[in-house]
Amino acid sequence: MAVLFGDQLDRQYPDHLGLDKSEDAILMVEVREESTDPPSHVQRTVMFLSAMRHHAAWLRDRGWRVEYVEIDDDENTGAFGSEITRAIGRLRPERVALIRPGEHRVLNIVRGCCGNAGISCAVAEDPHFLSTPEEFAAWAEGRKELTMEYFYREQRKKLGVLMDGNKPVGGQWNFDKENRKSFKRTPRSPALPEFGVDVVTRGVINAVRAVLPDLPGRMERFNWPVTRRQALIALNDFVEKRLPKFGDYQDAMWLEQRTLYHALISGAINLKLIDPREVVEKAVGAYESGHAPLNAVEGFVRQIIGWREYIRGIYWLEGDGYGDRNALGHHGSLPAFFWTGETDMACVRDAIGGVLDLGYAHHISRLMVTGNFALIAGIEPKEVADWYLGMYIDGVDWVTAPNVIGMALHADGGIVGTKPYAASGKYIKKMSNACEHCRYSVDERTGENACPFNTFYWDFLIRHKERFKRNHRMAMILKHVDTMPREERVAITSSASEARKRMGISGG
Ligand SMILES: Cc1cc2nc3c(=O)[nH]c(=O)nc-3n(C[C@H](O)[C@H](O)[C@H](O)COP(=O)(O)OP(=O)(O)OC[C@H]3O[C@@H](n4cnc5c(N)ncnc54)[C@H](O)[C@@H]3O)c2cc1C
Ligand code: SF4
Repeated sequence: MAVLFGDQLDRQYPDHLGLDKSEDAILMVEVREESTDPPSHVQRTVMFLSAMRHHAAWLRDRGWRVEYVEIDDDENTGAFGSEITRAIGRLRPERVALIRPGEHRVLNIVRGCCGNAGISCAVAEDPHFLSTPEEFAAWAEGRKELTMEYFYREQRKKLGVLMDGNKPVGGQWNFDKENRKSFKRTPRSPALPEFGVDVVTRGVINAVRAVLPDLPGRMERFNWPVTRRQALIALNDFVEKRLPKFGDYQDAMWLEQRTLYHALISGAINLKLIDPREVVEKAVGAYESGHAPLNAVEGFVRQIIGWREYIRGIYWLEGDGYGDRNALGHHGSLPAFFWTGETDMACVRDAIGGVLDLGYAHHISRLMVTGNFALIAGIEPKEVADWYLGMYIDGVDWVTAPNVIGMALHADGGIVGTKPYAASGKYIKKMSNACEHCRYSVDERTGENACPFNTFYWDFLIRHKERFKRNHRMAMILKHVDTMPREERVAITSSASEARKRMGISGG
């Protein structure tokens, strides 16, 4: 028997596992627990389950025996462990085969079930990815710092992507200096393709409403690809219409413009409806045909063969328990507005409003608005990571944990980023129009009207001065803390404590 999880919908997996249509069954289960602990955005749950049902139908059409347990099946016990055990009892397999899952916890569950049943468990490497955990570990071995840029260059050479012999195409590895423009006026990014809600998705929506009526998020604007065909449409649409400007506006933010020139393929690629190789091939093709400039294509390719693979490498390298790290000792509770979007901070209201509407925000919104807020306000990393895991349609532990614990919160002590991505309201003002529509003053750092990002940012620096004083990338900014009059420091600390109280952040 083989087990396929909801983020394992790559069509090559049954062959990769060496399954035999005449003997082997493929188990696919929809379990409630994966949507309740932590709470999952309703669109995330619907996208996963609909894509699973479509994939099961595709497998059956090709003669595979799929043992599929739907979420509202009367006998469904609601958790992976009990469902796998139930299937082992029913099918009496000699062994269980699986592709390395996207979460330590899930791997442990399957191994536990097999151990209890006294049968073997064969875990195959995931051929979807461009590098294996072993290859990443070999790259990381002996390095003082795991700098993504160096990993990325190795990937470019290994895969021969955007290479001119031994040299990078265009003479540089990275064109970020040409990227990162902010908008000067309302951007008009191209409309996205409409996927609609087909009969399978409709069935899932009805079942989810019946079984899990209290999931967070709004369903009205559901428009995610749930089949490989739709995922390819999404990819082609991005390459044709948005990739040419992807680099320019990669870091820009604009109120109520949630998707801008981003790809919106993270859900499809994480569920393995599309393959990173075909994504890269399409993007590079757009450069070679003159459709998209090098700064855009290189910037995008870096996300796929660089960041995505690097993040996964970190997840498996650092092992189980990475998600519980809390290097900065932050214990604040997650404010209620993370679930409702009801806050008077215009930037946060817009970012969370977008997440509730779409189950999506682009990278800079995740990193520099919600992530930055949680970092400088001192929120408990595990609570933050659980929120991200559930509330974004692309949330899977291998990718969410290093991005949240490592990149956004610096809770891994500096593995993913040598310096915390902490910023004041000045950054948000530069990259978006939010401050023009906010009740707070982005030029003040203390008092009731001060931008909370300013107050928390300086409070963060004051609180962690000792820790970061030997970090040369923080030296300049920490000098400001050193030369700050004592009364100013006291005012910042007390403003931050008042702001935490106002926002209902306990712990700290
Ligand atoms: C706090 C935080 C949490 C995040 N959580 C997730 C998550 O749960 N799932 C997830 O897939 N991504 C996550 N990311 C990474 C990134 O923000 C999303 O992949 C991206 O925003 C998805 O939107 P897009 O497809 O429009 O991406 P684009 O900006 O258009 O990028 C293209 C693709 O590159 C890949 N990519 C880019 N950056 C990363 C990265 N840092 N890590 C992994 N892949 C990357 C994704 O597959 C993405 O689809 C997180 C980032 C931060 C800062
Ligand atoms: S003033 Fe501060 S809180 Fe308001 S939008 Fe700007 S950065 Fe956000």
